[in-house]
Amino acid sequence: MIQIGDLQCEVLSGGRFKLDGGGMFGIIPRMLWSRQFEPDDRGRIQLDTNCILVRTGDELVLIDTGNGPKMTTKEQTIFGLDPSEGILRSLATHGVAPAEITTVLLTHLHMDHVGGASHLEDDEPVISFPNARYVAQRREWEDAIHNYSHMRASYRLENLLPIQRSGRLELLDGDAEVAPGISVHVTGGHTPAHQCVFLRSRGETGVFLADVCPTPAHFRPPYNMAYDLEPYVTMRVKGELLSRAAQEGWLCFFDHEPARKVVRVREEDGQFAADPVAF
Ligand SMILES: [Zn+2]
Repeated sequence: MIQIGDLQCEVLSGGRFKLDGGGMFGIIPRMLWSRQFEPDDRGRIQLDTNCILVRTGDELVLIDTGNGPKMTTKEQTIFGLDPSEGILRSLATHGVAPAEITTVLLTHLHMDHVGGASHLEDDEPVISFPNARYVAQRREWEDAIHNYSHMRASYRLENLLPIQRSGRLELLDGDAEVAPGISVHVTGGHTPAHQCVFLRSRGETGVFLADVCPTPAHFRPPYNMAYDLEPYVTMRVKGELLSRAAQEGWLCFFDHEPARKVVRVREEDGQFAADPVAF
């Protein structure tokens, strides 16, 4: 557990998966990124889908949900998924029942972030957190439901429709406070309405950077995902956030890092370095 002022935070795996190493590092040559992430025989690297569970006041907020259990057997092989893993299992390990979650906050709506918000019942996808409101940016929702741009394979109706049908969707127009001490900041970059999440209480700050900086191996400016719709925005916003994190001692949480999931950031000679924090 990590305490940020009055906020009690847990980092939970939504299930590990693998993606193409080149895709995760965009223009960076394999010679360089493979020093930090060793690719397997298919060129894939091992990643996680880290979700944050935050207890604040009367709320139990789950930030992102991982890939979820709706992938086909073929997709499970492609993405190196172990169907026994997932956010529901991680919550159970921490003694949390799905019905206890009051808010599911989504950084964006790609499948590795929203897939775990629903599961199949009699072959029909239904929401996994029956008492939660599901909070996303309106622009992101519109882009996802209309299958915007080249990342359309990652915006899946099977993940969106159960939330829409539940009547529990809550859409935001820009930066907002979602629960006491939990606020979202629209960054753009990865998707035009991608948001990161700030956790603030009693003068302490944590930030879930989501896909603006998925691992500490992405600290350097050009180390961005090939999937980014606005690569230059990612590069600029990432630099600004990491500078402030270093100056103001923020805790940084990463969505796809398998090992160093929470760090403090140091800036030395214009380079950022990560000091892992135990939790
Ligand atoms: Zn992602």
